[in-house]
Amino acid sequence: MSETQESMIVEHVLDAISDQRLRAGTKLGEQALSDLFSCNRAHVRRALATLSAYQVVDLIPNRGAFVSTPSENEARDIFQARRAIESTIIRNVVRRANDADLAALRSHLTHEDEVRRENDRPKAIRASRAFHMLLARIGRNTVLEKYLSELTMRTSLIIGLYGTNKASLCADDEHRHIVDSIASRDEARAQELVDHHLRHIENEIEFGSQSPRIGPLSFILQPSEG
Ligand SMILES: [Zn+2]
Repeated sequence: MSETQESMIVEHVLDAISDQRLRAGTKLGEQALSDLFSCNRAHVRRALATLSAYQVVDLIPNRGAFVSTPSENEARDIFQARRAIESTIIRNVVRRANDADLAALRSHLTHEDEVRRENDRPKAIRASRAFHMLLARIGRNTVLEKYLSELTMRTSLIIGLYGTNKASLCADDEHRHIVDSIASRDEARAQELVDHHLRHIENEIEFGSQSPRIGPLSFILQPSEG
């Protein structure tokens, strides 16, 4: 059970962070986690060490593990890193996307439209993040894909921490315009749209207004559907 248990804890915590069920600053108690996942504390400790390597959990000596609380400066650094990485990703996508990739992008846009109509914010945020990760896959640079995975996770944490004044993470029509520019193989336009899109998200974050949500871990870590 050991490795499976560890990766199960890691997956659940990462899901809960990207869904914004688990907020910055929440304590991840070893005993609570070991009860919740029916495993021993050594497995919990290894899972927490992995999460700390992803920089979404802080391990504080004598106090325990807490979901990271990125400062405004860190948050801005993360967005700058995303603009740098996603600029290269989108260039790769424009050059490498084949017909099947374009179909996958169009089908994802349809999925996002459906999710938006359901008014399910965590699901909408997950779908938004999935769009950026789909671009990373189509760009076919697995190193950039890995870094983007970490950065988008940390972006979800930032949005969960500070909140935004919009209902969803990504503006409705911006993803569609990006896909159109890929389809017309307009590299400069695609890069400009992605850069603008990421600045738009960053500008909507209301730094200073923290909204920590505290609840029992057993509730927060329940995996959601979809
Ligand atoms: Zn987006």
